Formats: sequence, C-alpha cells, structure tokens
Amino acid sequence: TVIEGRPYLVGLGVDITRRRELEQELMRQARTDDLTGLFNRRHFLEKSEQELVRAVRYEKPLSVLMFDIDEFKMVNDKYGHQAGDSVLRKVAEACRNALRGVDIVGRMGGEEFAVLLPETDIVQACEVAERLRQDIAGAATLLEQGNELKITVSIGVTTLVEDESDIDRLLNLADKALYEAKRSGRNCVCTG
Ligand code: GH3
Ligand code: MG
Ligand code: MG
Repeated sequence: TVIEGRPYLVGLGVDITRRRELEQELMRQARTDDLTGLFNRRHFLEKSEQELVRAVRYEKPLSVLMFDIDEFKMVNDKYGHQAGDSVLRKVAEACRNALRGVDIVGRMGGEEFAVLLPETDIVQACEVAERLRQDIAGAATLLEQGNELKITVSIGVTTLVEDESDIDRLLNLADKALYEAKRSGRNCVCTG
C-alpha cells in the first residue's frame, strides 16, 4: 500500500503451531483405541489394506493373526470391569513387546485383536502366534486388591495365497481358525 507517497508492504503472520498440534492430536485419536493405545479397527483395516497391496505387488508373503481372550466374561464377572480393562491393557503391552515395529496390531472390538505380519509366511506366523500365546499366558495383571490375574488367548493364523488381496477375506479365514482354536480347548494356535 502507499502511505503519504511511500510504498509499504503489509504482511500478517499467524502462528498456527497450536492448531497443527491439535489437528495431529485429533488424527492420532481417530486412529487409536483409547483403552489399549493400539490401532482401532478402522485404522487397522486401512493400514492392512496398504500392506496387502504392497505384498501382492512385490510377491511377498504376509500373514494375519486373530486372537480373542479366553473366558473373558468370567474375568469381568468375577473381578469387575476395571480388572477386565487392566487385562486388556496388559494384552496390548504383551503384543507391543512380542511383535516387530512393522507389524500392524489392532483392537478389533471387545476382547478381540488382529495382527498383520508383513514379510511373514505361515510357518513364521505360527511361531509368532505361539510365542505371543506363551507370553500372554505367562504375564500376570496386577489387580487393585494386590492379587495377580492370569489369562490365556486363542489364536487363529492365516496367510496370503497368490493375489487374493482382500483383507476381509484374510480376517475371515483367521477368524475361522480362531473359532477352531476355541473348539480345540482354547489357549492354543490353529491355522486356516
Ligand atoms: P471365549 O473363551 O469363548 O472367548 O469366552 P468369552 O467369555 O471371552 O467370550 P464372550 O464373547 O462371551 O465374552 C466377551 C466379554 O468381553 C464380554 C464383555 O463384557 C467383555 N468385554 C468386551 N469389551 C470389554 C471392555 O472394553 N472392557 C471389559 N472389561 N470387558 C469387555
Ligand atoms: Mg470374543
Ligand atoms: Mg473371549
């Protein structure tokens, strides 16, 4: 602009750091399961979809685990919902410790979890599942009253064959294998 015959350049700066931080925090919340800090179902599916496309494109192996806490209703009934929540957090912690950074872990709902393992064939996936099962069975959740609570999980494992790049189908197969693990007496790993 020109003021009294002299040209001026007028600029306006606004610090949007706070807004950016807020946006990022909102985005993080939208992807995360509040209780466990794992990915929520939606974000798990989104990330898995990407990994699946990559695996098919580069002809890499990829496997999926589905697992569910055994007799979890009993935990809530006997020790209360709070104790149940602590167990869920403990299971999430076991996952974080047992799995690689590239693995995708999600809480799919209730006491059901899914893991996508990139670059992992069925043999390796079964080893991972078995290790996870043992870790969870060996971990104890410390309850408010001071006593320790142990739980187990049943795990279903499946792997990508050819170019069937459909995450829903893989999860479905893993879920069927999980059902088989429940039928086989729980606290075990089944493939499908
Ligand atoms: P199974 O071995 O066949 O899996 O038996 P289960 O008792 O684990 O299965 P069921 O599906 O009957 O029970 C799941 C329970 O999980 C029921 C529900 O109250 C509990 N649950 C689901 N979400 C939460 C949660 O966020 N917190 C707590 N504390 N409990 C939850
Ligand atoms: Mg269940
Ligand atoms: Mg259960």
